[in-house]
Amino acid sequence: MRKACIGSTQATLLTHVQESRAELSASILQAFLRASPGNSFGVCGRRCLAGNHLRTWCPLSNPLRVSSGSGESWFDPRRGNSQRDAHMSSRVRNFLVKYADDITFDFEKYQPVDENPNKHPFFGFIERKNDRMQHLALLGRLLLVQIAGGPTDIRDSSLSELVDSTQTPDGIDDETYEDDVDAKEVLKTLKLFCEVFKDDPAVDDESGLKEFRIEYFIVSCVMLLDHLRKYYAVRPQHHSAIRQFFYSFYARWDEHKEEDRDIILFSDSRQQDRSNLEIRDRVIRQLFFDHLKTNNVELKTLDSKRLFDEGERIRIYRRDEGRCQQCLKLGRTPEEATVSWSDYQADHILPWVKGGATVPWNGQVLCKLHNASKGGR
Ligand SMILES: [Zn+2]
Repeated sequence: MRKACIGSTQATLLTHVQESRAELSASILQAFLRASPGNSFGVCGRRCLAGNHLRTWCPLSNPLRVSSGSGESWFDPRRGNSQRDAHMSSRVRNFLVKYADDITFDFEKYQPVDENPNKHPFFGFIERKNDRMQHLALLGRLLLVQIAGGPTDIRDSSLSELVDSTQTPDGIDDETYEDDVDAKEVLKTLKLFCEVFKDDPAVDDESGLKEFRIEYFIVSCVMLLDHLRKYYAVRPQHHSAIRQFFYSFYARWDEHKEEDRDIILFSDSRQQDRSNLEIRDRVIRQLFFDHLKTNNVELKTLDSKRLFDEGERIRIYRRDEGRCQQCLKLGRTPEEATVSWSDYQADHILPWVKGGATVPWNGQVLCKLHNASKGGR
């Protein structure tokens, strides 16, 4: 089924053209590493990622040599030999390698992708090839968008700059970038992607979804999900509508009818600069919300429905007699549990993100401490 997905010759040609263009721009190796075949690491200059480590990063330079070295496990951030490899390494690079690493890195010690427990499951949901570090590049581009807070330049040069900008001395083992707020946000959006598509029967151990094969298409889809996650109350009951949108959007894109101006505009804007990303983002968002409307699906915005209004807050406070319900549960006296009006925040008993309604019966008084410890919502 999956293998025979291309319907017509025209579609095949179109897809082929798109794929080869994508491949061209995805020759990320050069820009990412600032290395060309045959360069010794002495001549690669200041843009060289990690001194001697360059070799292990660049299959172009000599894939065989890569496997021969001692301590080549450096690119696995968990096992880097920092004593031997006291060199600069980039925190972003470590992050990308950890969550999107590439089977072509190995060699003898490297764990194949399937066995790498850190590789993000997102990559199992897409059909994008990974023979030339495409997964690393894709994650890097998504990170660029995240950092910029929206459409931005995600060309190889920008990705290189980002990698360079987070170099730290002796940073081989440095995994701290994943504590960075942008890194966390990217991972959250990829997680949502997985949740949305996890029930699709077409996903199995062997293959991902044929819809997600071309990089610029994937980038825009993930950007849409990122936007929804941040501004709308996306709940499990919405997942199917979101999935259906992506499938129908893909079908239109694959069909590529001349009169379908939205789609033509979208695919004519396949470049990786800011204005192209912006155009694609506008198109896909508009089509998405059109799709919801047509299907009578409503996504609530976070801000409007998430907070109790003033009247509700007062009712909750009066009902609970201004006492932290958690403090009471822990056996504190009513006096100890009393929360001043100014310190009081109405809390959702069933968390809002889990579908808890913003109505008084689902609200309770919590003290600052307990409100904070519930956090994360
Ligand atoms: Zn309390």
